[in-house]
Amino acid sequence: MSVAKYMQLALTSPVGGYYTRGQAFGREGDFVTSPEISQMFGEIVAVWLTLHWEMLGRPVHTALVELGPGRGTLMDDMLRAARRFPQFFASIRGVHLVERSPELRRVQHDRLGCDAQQTQMAADQDAPERGVSAARGNIPVRWYDALDAVEPDGAVPLVVAHEFFDALPIHKFEKGADGLWHEILVDVADSSRGSALVSLPPGSVPQRRDPAPGIGHFKLVRTRNVSAGAALLLRDKQFDAQFSTGDMVEVSPESARVMAQMADWITRCNGLGLIVDYGQDWTQSDTFRGIKSHRFADPLRAPGSMDLTADVDFSYLRFAARGKAECHGPVEQGAFLHAMGIQA
Ligand code: SAH
Repeated sequence: MSVAKYMQLALTSPVGGYYTRGQAFGREGDFVTSPEISQMFGEIVAVWLTLHWEMLGRPVHTALVELGPGRGTLMDDMLRAARRFPQFFASIRGVHLVERSPELRRVQHDRLGCDAQQTQMAADQDAPERGVSAARGNIPVRWYDALDAVEPDGAVPLVVAHEFFDALPIHKFEKGADGLWHEILVDVADSSRGSALVSLPPGSVPQRRDPAPGIGHFKLVRTRNVSAGAALLLRDKQFDAQFSTGDMVEVSPESARVMAQMADWITRCNGLGLIVDYGQDWTQSDTFRGIKSHRFADPLRAPGSMDLTADVDFSYLRFAARGKAECHGPVEQGAFLHAMGIQA
């Protein structure tokens, strides 16, 4: 299967997906993110949003949208800080959270102090779909599986994505001696012993924490040909002649899709978005990795037991937004925080 499919199953499969299980965040878990380290991070983002709300001409109705809110810490800190700016706070008609994991939805629900009496659960799963944040001024909160489902009801969207894009699936390609791109795929490491794994239905990737050697262990293989879909991806001008034999690239069409949608939508509604992630402003070659217990780990081992991530290619996100939205940056997070008044 493609690295993208592997990543998608290992992270968000309804059975055994790493985020689906949702337990691994925080100091005790596998990784810690800025909002989890200090509440100042969310406070700074709230100040940034307030400033930009002013620059947008103080729209009367706004919708706060967050992609991949994790434990809900950033949104909660932002809302608490935003209350210090009463006019901005009064404009917030609703909070819209794009989160697939039922477990994380429940964590976010509790973190935002939603009143259980007013919570509406999704019909098909044990996870909230609508709620009201009693702790944060009775703001309505809604959950969605994907950005295209968000309904801001005419409000101006203010979108935040913190460490979201790095979790979206990537494809890997290598340029062969024939001058053509070949896709790197995931195969079972030990095909004789692993053959049973191949026939498992999608979504049932092994999720044992400490697999015996050869079980739940995969390897990368190179295909002879590139699929039509992949060939189409690589026709983007980003991947032209600048690469030579043996070069690898990582491409996240899912990121481009979400970015294009977001760019189109926020521009149509006169809103804005803030993307915070780690990555570079050029195409990545080999950054696909696992993170487990605060250390890098082999991403091809025990899928579902660790976070999988790849550096974000900001130039590709901008490319996806071309003609749709005006993009600024990227700037280093240190410079951003410094400009907002935080001194390390
Ligand atoms: N923003 C948080 C969490 C980052 S982890 C923080 O910085 O602490 C990535 C988040 O994105 C998780 O909440 C995960 O469940 C969510 N996520 C990952 N892939 C997703 C997808 N395809 N659609 C919706 N949410 C996704």
